[in-house]
Amino acid sequence: MSAEPKDIRDVVRFLQQGADLGLGEIFLERLTRNEALMAVAEARSGAKTVGTGAAKHETGAAKHETAAGKHETAATAPREGECVEASVPDSDLMRLQYTELKTVAESCQRCRLAKGRTQVVFSDGNPQARLMVVGEAPGANEDRTGLPFVGQAGKFLDLLLAAVDLSREDSVYICNVLKCRPPGNRDPMADEIELCSPFLKRQIALVAPEVILAVGTFAAQLLTGSDRPLGKLRGSVYSYEGVPLVVTYHPAALLRNAGWTRSTWDDLQLLRQVMDGS
Ligand code: SF4
Repeated sequence: MSAEPKDIRDVVRFLQQGADLGLGEIFLERLTRNEALMAVAEARSGAKTVGTGAAKHETGAAKHETAAGKHETAATAPREGECVEASVPDSDLMRLQYTELKTVAESCQRCRLAKGRTQVVFSDGNPQARLMVVGEAPGANEDRTGLPFVGQAGKFLDLLLAAVDLSREDSVYICNVLKCRPPGNRDPMADEIELCSPFLKRQIALVAPEVILAVGTFAAQLLTGSDRPLGKLRGSVYSYEGVPLVVTYHPAALLRNAGWTRSTWDDLQLLRQVMDGS
């Protein structure tokens, strides 16, 4: 039984019914239906306001304080081992624009990883980039800085990309399959990937890269739709919803296994060929 106030659940039900009927506009404070769903998502996570373009709207939940005080993130975050129903349905995520999607992700409570994160790690680089790099999940440095691929593995990735004339300053957009850090840097769990992957799917649609580079097993298997090991997947060009996709080793794994350097170099040459159309 949810501890959430019944009026919030009724508002969510009302908004979702309207969204299912294809109704886009809503009468409160000129919010669109998706903006209202985002406001509810933020209210559930304890945030006070939601930004929509230049304006910021105060949510009903943020205005009202209970006798016990304001809503706290810890009160609504999933307990250990628990994943929860998505507050913004996948179908609505697929309609969000880039800033809206990022805002929703930043207050996401869909899976158990919300509980232990310092912050959501959404992306780095240029959202108009030609190449999109997709990794696995934030580590400790990423959780602390809010940016993907920082620290030693991140520097190594930047060097590898520079070797084929690419850089996150202009030509590369970087994100992960999971936006929150798994505790102790453990592997992502299947239900976490399932709950988080709609964010990635929408990111790819919005960034619309010319080519995707999946680094590491989890990104490679998710985007190719195959459960084959990375060593068997690499060396080919796949298609993710029409976008050419190349897979290679994760730079962190490469730092531990210098023997994969030659294969990674070959993968980067393949990537460059795809980008050059040759
Ligand atoms: S990992 Fe993804 S689904 Fe889980 S809480 Fe973070 S953003 Fe939400």
